[in-house]
Amino acid sequence: MEPIPFYKPSVTEDELTEVVDTLRSGWLTMGPRTRQFEEEFAARVDARHTVAVSSATAGLHLGLDAMDLEPGDEVLVPTITFASTGSTVIHAGATPILVDCEPDTLNIDVEDAARKCGPRTKAIVPVHMAGHPCDMDAVHSLAESRSLRVMEDAAHAIPAAYRGRKIGSVSELTVFSFYATKNLTTGEGGMVSVADEELANRIQMRRLHGMSRDAWKRYGTGGSWRYDVAYPGFKYNMTDIAAAIGLVQLRRLDELQQRRREIVARYRLALADCDALELPTCRPEVDHAWHLFIVRMEHDRLSIHRDEVIEKLNAAGVGTSVHFIPLHVHSYYREKYGYNDKSLPEASKQWQRMISLPLYPGLSDHQVDFVAAQVTEILRQNRR
Ligand SMILES: *Cc1c(COP(=O)(O)O)cnc(C)c1O
Repeated sequence: MEPIPFYKPSVTEDELTEVVDTLRSGWLTMGPRTRQFEEEFAARVDARHTVAVSSATAGLHLGLDAMDLEPGDEVLVPTITFASTGSTVIHAGATPILVDCEPDTLNIDVEDAARKCGPRTKAIVPVHMAGHPCDMDAVHSLAESRSLRVMEDAAHAIPAAYRGRKIGSVSELTVFSFYATKNLTTGEGGMVSVADEELANRIQMRRLHGMSRDAWKRYGTGGSWRYDVAYPGFKYNMTDIAAAIGLVQLRRLDELQQRRREIVARYRLALADCDALELPTCRPEVDHAWHLFIVRMEHDRLSIHRDEVIEKLNAAGVGTSVHFIPLHVHSYYREKYGYNDKSLPEASKQWQRMISLPLYPGLSDHQVDFVAAQVTEILRQNRR
């Protein structure tokens, strides 16, 4: 058996053709394909306005920047997330306040968020971990009672839904990632879904140098050389080369998701009897995007720790990962803000138990069975 990598992107001849056509078209940077991708993506997630960007990190930064936060302002972010959910708050000039997780979904614990909400708290950034939507009713009711802005980090959540509403249509701001490992990829890229037109215009303008006109309008036929810098903006635009990949991936999305669901069902069946393992939850009110399949070790039934299970899986030819090392475990957050494991007790406990197993459309049934068999065997041999 060949080693099974943790992740492999799903790219077909169709993506290659679209990219080649784009290169031949003579328009490489943000232009007509980016516009088309924004429109088709908006239709897919029921978004009112969409702004295509160079990454989700760029999108998160733009969303926070558009809130015009001031030094001393605070933004609630879950500690279980990727680096950029926290660092973009700092880039926007505010202070991230780390929030603990729910034990089942690993999503932001809104009760803990409420406890940490103070007079300077301006926004909350829920992250839909692994593709399982957060408890958005609770997030919105906290946001309303404390006048918080809501920006969803939906890097894992395309396509997902909460109580029948697509992620991308639920809050004022939602940010998606098209990084190479994500459910829909453009290599690098992201999308900001915005409910309000004025806010969308501000984000669009700040995406490209804060210029009054997009370059593609400027250089297109009938465009003018004249522009005005209305704000010291960023260089966060998507390219048409990336959008070309995205357009094809969007058309393939249903089929890609179908395969993800089949793999999840197969893992569930194969791992059902493994009592040293907790399998991921899926609450009835959500449509899960199944970006990740996170299993958790029941350490009281095992004589080895998660870290050793990862090593043994690696030796058996199974690539895995951990999503995520919580922000409060990293040196910057410990040294700058004084966080320790006691500050975020649930996340400190849960992240030590987690392993993300391979989950991508290109996995064969045979490979899924092999991964499940290796996990089962390693845990069986190391029972307490
Ligand atoms: C991948 C990821 C990001 C960053 O996405 P990029 O497109 O790589 O910038 C942000 N938040 C979460 C939760 C992610 O998993």
